[in-house]
Parts: sequence; structure tokens; C-alpha cells
Amino acid sequence: MIALQTQQATKPATTSTTTGATTSTTASGASFATALASAMGTQTGAAAASTAPAADKSYTLNSKGIPTELAAYGNGKIPASALEKVGSTGHKLWAPAAQNLNQMIADAKTQGVTIGITDSYRPYEEQVDLAKRKGLYSQGGLAAKPGTSEHGWGMATDLDLNSKAQAWMRENGEKYGFHENVPREPWHWAYRPKTS
Ligand SMILES: [Zn+2]
Repeated sequence: MIALQTQQATKPATTSTTTGATTSTTASGASFATALASAMGTQTGAAAASTAPAADKSYTLNSKGIPTELAAYGNGKIPASALEKVGSTGHKLWAPAAQNLNQMIADAKTQGVTIGITDSYRPYEEQVDLAKRKGLYSQGGLAAKPGTSEHGWGMATDLDLNSKAQAWMRENGEKYGFHENVPREPWHWAYRPKTS
């Protein structure tokens, strides 16, 4: 999972391509003033949590691909107010990730696909504990160096997938912002928000 830090840094390019396309579509059909107002409106919406679903907002990422508002809290130190429950489980993720995951699980269900969840946000102390128990990924284990895990940002979930669900995720996960990005961990899916 240390390796994925590098991937994280490069991967948002894919996301911004999508966002860029959306933005240019808007801009081409509207005056600069309208586009500007639209952009301002987006920012206002981002500030007011009740206006738009967090899942649809765009976020500014830092050089490591972490939304700046999350980076400010620190890995493994995300306050409860920025997290949201996944379904009726005890699992929590960064709110936009949780909302997209809930939608994805619901949509999969209508297609006869069951997606379970085994892990989600991981506070710093739990990362330390996991590293002791499962070893560091860089040394052949399964834990990220404490303070670097995507789980510590509330931006990754470990899913319980049978073969049908694994195939469904590989086909559909990206539509919901979830990417399979760690070799040797087909259960680990990282969330990438829309970027501004
Ligand atoms: Zn994981």
C-alpha cells in the first residue's frame, strides 16, 4: 500500500480528465460570466453540505491525491463530522465515499450482486496495530505504513466479494469512483472524488 501512494499521485489525472470534459462542455455552451457563476455556485454548494450530495462535489487534491480538506485533518485523524456510515454497518468512510459506496451497493443489489464490507476508515491507532499484526506491505505484508493508509483518509474500503461481485466491481466500480489499486489486494477499493 505504500506503492499506491505513487499511484495516487498519478491516478487523479484520469479523474481530472473526466472532470475536465464536463467543465469544457459547460464552458463551451456558456459565456465566461455564466461559467464563472457556475463555478462559484459549485464552490458555494461545496461549503453548504445540505445543498448538494457530497458525492457530487468536486475537490481540490494535494500532491499526493488527497482532498485538501481531508489532508488538513491528518491521516487517521478524520473527525466523526467528516465521516458517514456505510449502510447500517458500523463502518464509516469519508462522507462522499460513503455515499457513493451506499449507492453502489444498492445498485449492485438490484442486479443480483451482493457486495459486503469488511473494513473502512482506519484511525491511526488501528493502523499501528494492523501493521504489527499483518506486517508492512513493503515487506510482503498487508498493512500500509501507519499514517499513509488510504483507509486512514476514509477513502478506501475492503469489500467482501464473491467471484461474481468481483467481476461486477471491475466492470462498474469506477462509475462510483472506486478503483482496485493495490496488487495482491483484490478486496481493496480506493475512492477518488471528482476533482476541481
Ligand atoms: Zn484495504
